[in-house]
Amino acid sequence: MNIILFGPPGAGKGTQAKLIQSELNLPQLSTGDMFRNNIKNETPLGLKVKSILDSGQLVGDEVVVELVEDALDKPEFANGYVLDGFPRTVAQAEALDNILEARGQKVDAFITLEVPDETLVGRLLNRGEGRTDDTEEKIRIRLDVYKNETAPVMNYYRDKGAYHAVDGVGTIDEIFGRLKDIIQP
Ligand code: ADP
Repeated sequence: MNIILFGPPGAGKGTQAKLIQSELNLPQLSTGDMFRNNIKNETPLGLKVKSILDSGQLVGDEVVVELVEDALDKPEFANGYVLDGFPRTVAQAEALDNILEARGQKVDAFITLEVPDETLVGRLLNRGEGRTDDTEEKIRIRLDVYKNETAPVMNYYRDKGAYHAVDGVGTIDEIFGRLKDIIQP
């Protein structure tokens, strides 16, 4: 099963993707985590994207698509996965369709976590992961980028089907329960 976990920064995608990975055995592929690992390890890719992540803007589509395409070739993702943080633009969604089509795969569920803006800002300011993009100023930029560049991806999948909107407010377990209802009906 191939799942896209979607939503604004702070919606809980990473938290829920990790739960799905550990409890439902579906590996998680997070582009944000991959970029942060590359930055930490000072790889050429990390050096290239560091200032972009620090600014709260998006990494270029070509760079992200290549990263995801390479990752999906790994055997651990052969039997399905949860995408967290990708696709984040309509161009990325179209590229993903091509990647999946070439592999005879499809998106089985697109799940968007709905959380009000004020809640998002509070969660991000309090999460305490020490991320350089979790300052009030950068959070506002990321929310703007989400609205302008990422939210249109919802229309893309709404038109295609397999679209689910889930209330992302509640305890981690409550939200995980809502996701399980979709993933394991
Ligand atoms: P959040 O959802 O909390 O903003 P992520 O870890 O998903 O956090 O992403 C952090 C940053 O990594 C983004 O602000 C962006 O710079 C970069 N990034 C992650 N995924 C993508 C993507 N699919 N396309 C472009 N940039 C991305």
